[in-house]
Formats: sequence, C-alpha cells, structure tokens
Amino acid sequence: MTTARGLAARRIATFGAAGAFDDGAVVLDAGKIAWVGPRGDAPAGVPIEDLGDRLITPGLVDAHTHAAWVGSRHAEYAVRMAGGDYRDIAAAGGGILSSMRALQATTEDALFEALAARLLRMARLGVTCVEVKSGYGLEPELELLQLRAIARAAAREDLPRVVPTFLALHALPERARATPALRAAYIDHVAEIVVPEVAAGGLARFVDAYVDANAFTVDEARRVALPAKAAGLGVRLHVGQFADVGGAELCAELGARSADHLEHVGDHGLARLAAAGTAAVLLPTASFTLGQAPPPVARLRAAGVALVVASDANPGTAPTESLPLALALAVRQYGLTPDEALLAATRTAARSLDAAGGTLDVGSPADLVVWDLQHEHAIVQPWGVPKTHRVLRGGRPIA
Ligand code: FE
Repeated sequence: MTTARGLAARRIATFGAAGAFDDGAVVLDAGKIAWVGPRGDAPAGVPIEDLGDRLITPGLVDAHTHAAWVGSRHAEYAVRMAGGDYRDIAAAGGGILSSMRALQATTEDALFEALAARLLRMARLGVTCVEVKSGYGLEPELELLQLRAIARAAAREDLPRVVPTFLALHALPERARATPALRAAYIDHVAEIVVPEVAAGGLARFVDAYVDANAFTVDEARRVALPAKAAGLGVRLHVGQFADVGGAELCAELGARSADHLEHVGDHGLARLAAAGTAAVLLPTASFTLGQAPPPVARLRAAGVALVVASDANPGTAPTESLPLALALAVRQYGLTPDEALLAATRTAARSLDAAGGTLDVGSPADLVVWDLQHEHAIVQPWGVPKTHRVLRGGRPIA
C-alpha cells in the first residue's frame, strides 16, 4: 500500500458490508477503497487525515437525469403553476419541443459546456455518478449530437462518472405527428437505423422510451427496445407517470434494469417487476412539480421491488439538479425512511445502472463524499443548502 492514504471522521456510512459506525477511517489506494473500519484498527504506516466532526459516505448516484439540455423553460413553469395543462404549455412555446428547438439552435460544444457545468454543480451536491439521457433531439442527427456531447462529458475525469442512455422515444417531432403512417415511419427509422448506429458507436449503455398515455405505446417501446437489447444495450423505461398502460409488464418482459416513475402501476405489474429484478426509479421532484400523488411505495416494498430515487433533472417537470432535494421529497412526500432513501441513491442506484460504486466496500471505486454533517440522516434534511466539504472520484477531488 505504498500510495495508500486514509481519511478519518466522526462517522462513516458505507451503505455496504460494514454498515455505518462512529469514529471510523477509510483507506484509499490506486483510486479504490482499500480498507474501511474503526479508526483505531486502521492499517499501520498509512497516513491518515483527520476530517474531524464530519461524515463520510459513498458518492451519491443519480440514476435518472435529462441533464444534457440548453435554453430555459421559465415561461412554461409560470403557465404550469397557473394550472395550465400540456396543451397550454405547448401553446406558450414550452414542452419537449421547446428544448428540441433550443438544441437545434446550439452547437455540440455549447451543449457540452452546459452539461459539464451542470455535472460540476451536481458534484458539489455530493453526486459522483450520473445517468444522462438524450431525448431532446428527437431528430436522429440531433439525438446523435446530444449523445456525442454526453460522451465528451463521460470522458472527463474531473466530473462525476456519466452513464449515457439513448432516450429513443421521448416525443414525436412535429413532422411525424400528422398521420399514423408518419408516426410509424419515425419509430421504424429509430428502431432500424438509429438504435444500431448509437450502439455501434458506443454512444449509450441503455435505451429508454416514454411509455404512457399521450406518449408511446407498449408495442412502440418494444419496437425500439428489442434491437437495442440485441445490440447489447440495457433497458430502462419511463412508465406509469400519468396512466398504467402496461409499461411495468413490458419492463419485466424485456428484463429492464429499471422502471421509472410508476405513479400509476397495478399489482400485476408490481409482481412482474419484482420477479424480473427490475428496480423502481422514483422521481419525487417530478410528481412534486406536477402536484401528483406519490407512487404506491408500500405496495412496491411489499412486492419486493428494489427502490431507487433519482432527480429526473430536466428543464420542464423536474427543474432541479439536486439529488439531495429528491431524497428530501422521497422521505417527506413518499414516506421512505431516511435509510431507504439513502440506499436508493447509492448502492441500489449503482446496481440499477450496472455501475461500480454506491458503497464504501473494499474494492469499490474511491468515489466518496466528506460532508459537513454529523450523521447520514442529515443528508435528507435540512434541504436546499450545500452540505459537502469534499467530493472525490477515484480518490481525486472533483468538488
Ligand atoms: Fe425522465
């Protein structure tokens, strides 16, 4: 352990095998966790930095974001808060199409800069791994531009780790809305041409589609998910945000890693998710913005579905970059316990992304947060304030 160094603090919460305990130390070596345990048992000869009255946890993992966007949808928010529905929002120039137009008017460089700045702000909130979806391009060339900007962010070691997802079906571009044949042709093109190109270019690890009333059907989502699976991509789907149209059953059928939203899901769908090992990604900031009732957390628990909490960071329905805020709402609005919420944004979130990390287990990447807090439960409250002292990725400070 020639390069090993240690950090000691008032409390360590590993979200892994060693649990949480007071007066602990963690030893980092070659970018990984080499040892964790009581301070007095730390290996001899390793220099230990005393961080005093602080808390060390693994970095938070945000498993559902739309962080690659530009522009501003402040006008839409005012319409929404005044009670406007999606038609009023569209009439005011808002919605997914407004983010598409902003993307059309920008460059890959500018999008990358906006994304990198956003990821750095997320790091300052304690996040070391972020799933980032495309989905504001809608047209293939703009989706690819978005995915290339995401790939550039993923190549940067001074930002949180990035897990890229191709959100293949988010909304129809205007040209595909006039007839069912145009709609089908758009979806065929995405399935047959764009999905293979994205997979061959290594531009995504997952495929996603928005399965809901007023969005895409189960059959349409399956149409893009099957070639994506065949090309080696994992599946995560937006399902049941507004209506149960069978999205949970589709996730189970496809062996999806996650079913996201789930405000509307029946017992049959929950049982299928549990049997398939598909995690539920809860997005409390979105249901808060939309004034919706929470998903059926007690029934999810009873069915044995793994719970993940994510920010859904996007310019429309979840106008935040803060996973800690989502955790606060998961506890206050959804009734998760603080421990459930924290596991849902660390170990379980990382597993749903097939990513290393989310724990301080030996061998995990040294992605960790030193918090100006005395206990991990203080991550979920007080809310709305920065609470990190230092954020490390692979043992190196990124915030
Ligand atoms: Fe989303």
